[in-house]
Amino acid sequence: MNFILFGPPGAGKGTQAKQLAKELSIAHISTGDLLRQNVTLGTALGKEAKGYMDRGALVPDELVTKMLGERFEKPDIKTGFILDGYPRTLNQAKSLDELLKSRKMNIDFAAYLDTSDAVIIQRLSGRLVCKKCGSNFHITNMPPKIVNTCDHCAGELYQRGDDKVETIKKRIEVYKKEASEVLNYYKRENKLHTLSADKEAQVVLKQIIDLAIHPHDPLKV
Ligand code: AMP
Repeated sequence: MNFILFGPPGAGKGTQAKQLAKELSIAHISTGDLLRQNVTLGTALGKEAKGYMDRGALVPDELVTKMLGERFEKPDIKTGFILDGYPRTLNQAKSLDELLKSRKMNIDFAAYLDTSDAVIIQRLSGRLVCKKCGSNFHITNMPPKIVNTCDHCAGELYQRGDDKVETIKKRIEVYKKEASEVLNYYKRENKLHTLSADKEAQVVLKQIIDLAIHPHDPLKV
């Protein structure tokens, strides 16, 4: 089972994808996480990407696609994967088709997590991320047991540089501009399902699992 999770920043893609990867025993590939790892490690890619990420802009397609191609070399994708944060442009969607075709794989379906702007801003401006294991918390919705400390690995929690209100607004704007073309691409391929992600995480999770089990039910777009 290979599928894509779409949704604006703050739709809960990361949280859902981590849970789904566990429940369905498939790989979770987040281009945002991969880029942040590169920034932390200070790789050439990380140095190039950082400026774009801090501004809330998209990192150039060729850099992200090359990074994804390298991720696809790992054997864990053979049992299936969830793509989170990619493709973000039509160009990336076409590159993804090429990457998959050369590996005789394909995308089974794409789920769009539809989320209102107010919910996005509330979720992201309070989000805390573990420096060590990447787990997400929220100042009010899901606070850690100990202030600024990860419940899972005791790592330090931090606020992402791009989770400031002004940058969030910019990211929503960028997302809306870019997303419609990519979503239409999967709609045309009859692979797109739209779910409301303003609901509680567990409700959304169940909807996506149902979709993964029955990906060919009538489209809910
Ligand atoms: P995310 O964690 O998915 O919100 O991504 C954080 C940031 O990483 C984005 O604001 C972009 O700067 C960059 N990024 C992640 N995925 C992509 C992508 N597929 N194409 C271009 N930039 C990306």
